[in-house]
Amino acid sequence: MSKNPEFVKFDKVDKSYDGKVLVVKDLQLDIAEGEFITMLGPSGSGKTTCLMMLAGFETPTNGEILLDGNIISNIPPHKRGIGMVFQNYALFPHMTVYENLAFPLRVRKMEKNEIDKKVDKALSMVSLNGFETRMPGQLSGGQQQRVAVARALVFDPAVVLMDEPLGALDKNLRESMQYEIKHIHESIGVTVVYVTHDQSEALTMSNRIAVFNDGKVQQLSNPSELYEKPVNSFVAEFIGENNTFNGEVSDISGEKCKVKLSNGEILASAISVKSKGEQTTVSLRPERALIEPGETMDNMFSGKVEEVIYHGDHTRVRINLLGNPEFILKVPNSTSNLELKVKQDIKIGWNSSDARALDPK
Ligand code: ADP
Ligand code: MG
Repeated sequence: MSKNPEFVKFDKVDKSYDGKVLVVKDLQLDIAEGEFITMLGPSGSGKTTCLMMLAGFETPTNGEILLDGNIISNIPPHKRGIGMVFQNYALFPHMTVYENLAFPLRVRKMEKNEIDKKVDKALSMVSLNGFETRMPGQLSGGQQQRVAVARALVFDPAVVLMDEPLGALDKNLRESMQYEIKHIHESIGVTVVYVTHDQSEALTMSNRIAVFNDGKVQQLSNPSELYEKPVNSFVAEFIGENNTFNGEVSDISGEKCKVKLSNGEILASAISVKSKGEQTTVSLRPERALIEPGETMDNMFSGKVEEVIYHGDHTRVRINLLGNPEFILKVPNSTSNLELKVKQDIKIGWNSSDARALDPK
């Protein structure tokens, strides 16, 4: 059977809590069966509200949500076949791991031997077989969160919602759990709707990412496209690091344009500018600018080194360039052993294909 590309559908969904302000605005989003989709955005951008509406704990103010072609507005949360993992959606502290996992199955009136089989399978997904009789208090934070993931999967839900599930874990554990959840998704193919404000987490885990700001989806793309081809300044700033130049389009021809800055002019790709005289913000990734490039590049300027910081795998160089003392450049440490000195004059170059002229913020 082929996978439904509109397995979950938000159809023109608005949400207001107070009848005045829309915290989700005209959300149109199709999620494919088996997809891992992430809603990424700053705090207050409406991500949790979207999950709550899909789970059935909040009602859309306008529009409809469909699951496998059916409008779900009148279906209560526990009948939607949706599993959930939240940062503060704790395990039942007075129940063993086994009882925690058996609970959603008992609610569904499943028989004991069936329950045992499913609990065993869910625990093996998160590599916690043998922990059945432990109490949550006897587990580490990471293990507790794995049990929470197992509990969300144990009844074979059609969709699993995860809202900042790794937010309480420390960095190393969070990163290993990201891979673990990603691998579970790959092996069982359940549809996952994941929420985070952490862009690197979103890039690591997702098939597609919907970037939210102020209740609106700014861009819906796969991770590489989001990073390489941001469609506006918000996305460019929110995903990864970025150098920006504010200026005015002084010339435009086809896909290229010239942008006049207060002290210079750069050649850029005309992404969302159309005519001469428009204001624009040009975005350039720090790793796309080169120091002393061996070849001719579209943009070549001299700058002054302000700061050099060693980061293990790369060196971060802050340069005063075109009147901007905060121009950042990243050099991989394996390629060369640059001996950069503070206040040294250097040449910097980048191609216009890497400089994207976007709508100003
Ligand atoms: P995010 O998860 O992206 O941080 P939320 O969906 O939690 O964003 O919140 C979006 C907006 O809705 C915020 O302004 C928040 O204050 C508001 N909000 C969230 N939940 C409620 C609620 N239960 N009642 C009133 N306002 C809420
Ligand atoms: Mg939230």
